[in-house]
Amino acid sequence: MEKQWIKTSSKKQEGYPLWIGQDLTEKIIQREITESQETTGWVLVTDQNIQRIYQQKIQDLEAGAKNKSLPFLTLVIPPGESSKSLQKVEELAGVIAGKDFGRKTKILALGGGVVGDLAGFLASIYMRGVEYVQIPTTLLAQVDSSIGGKTGVNLFEGKNLLGSFYPPCSVWIDEDFLTTLEIKDWVNGYGELLKHGVLKDEGLFKAIEDQLDQNRTFNRISEAPAELTAIILRGITVKKEIIEADEKEQGLRKLLNYGHTFGHALEALYQYEGCSHGEAVLKGMVYEAEIAVCLGLLNNEDFSRIRNLIDGILKRGRDLPSPTKNIEDLIGFMKRDKKNRGNEISFILPEKIGKTREVFLKEEDLRRIFFKRKF
Ligand code: ADP
Ligand code: ZN
Repeated sequence: MEKQWIKTSSKKQEGYPLWIGQDLTEKIIQREITESQETTGWVLVTDQNIQRIYQQKIQDLEAGAKNKSLPFLTLVIPPGESSKSLQKVEELAGVIAGKDFGRKTKILALGGGVVGDLAGFLASIYMRGVEYVQIPTTLLAQVDSSIGGKTGVNLFEGKNLLGSFYPPCSVWIDEDFLTTLEIKDWVNGYGELLKHGVLKDEGLFKAIEDQLDQNRTFNRISEAPAELTAIILRGITVKKEIIEADEKEQGLRKLLNYGHTFGHALEALYQYEGCSHGEAVLKGMVYEAEIAVCLGLLNNEDFSRIRNLIDGILKRGRDLPSPTKNIEDLIGFMKRDKKNRGNEISFILPEKIGKTREVFLKEEDLRRIFFKRKF
């Protein structure tokens, strides 16, 4: 088990620990329950799939609290984005309050991004804030959403429109959970991992290239735990360094949006059903790398490496239809991106593998590039 420290301010000691390894349940019980001096009760939030697959782990956590004769409540939500709603927050808060859980309650968020964002948001406002622990169970949540202290729920008008910056008191990355992921969830996680490589870490990109070169399926990848740990840790480190330098999302954090201007537009185009976030971002990274080539920012060799690796990952999942016929709709969605400057659209573009920068493009320039590259 390795311990990392995530800083939440420039002050030396302020922050929270992140643990990474295999089979961490015993350690979680020991640190978060047995040795937890002030906590007066635990509320575990999870979804129905995880409850079904990891019943034993949940029972073990509960037994830890029972040993201390303190209350432990498990709240189970339906899987999927539709659970990330204010209504759900109110419903869960009502149950907790009805059972007299007070300010010294600790919330355990056991699940993917949906559970983490929802339970984190609940923790940030229940009794003006209680402690919470992230135990992310998807690759995406482990390398991305559990790092950085962002919490939130969706509105009908858009995703994550209500939320808070509220760091957890600790994060537990237990790779055991990955063994039961579906292919689409591996693809989802690899999208953001690869992005972290292009942003800041050529070595991470190369490690993923080497891993996939051996033609392993995702499930077999999870059978090589040392390699996987190294890759996850590097992915986390990139995100950690960026958010530590820019906790409140002013400058550097923008870089995390590589692949996302296009990716969000693709998700909107396919109405959030035809593709997952990760698939849309993977495609977005290829298109945005093409834009970088057109602008003379990126050389063809690096572009080919990006495209080949992404094709290799998408081949293991399912491919998306080409958006050629929908260019105008795509531009329409991109014009709504909140990073835009006036009527110029913001893109984070690679200059080489390991380095990116923000570029603003006018709609006409974008259209010209689309036609030139025959997207
Ligand atoms: P993310 O944003 O992290 O992709 P979600 O919370 O939407 O996350 O989870 C994606 C899907 O994967 C959900 O259906 C969830 O129930 C399921 N899931 C989460 N963790 C696991 C796991 N370890 N094994 C199998 N399925 C999981
Ligand atoms: Zn993303």
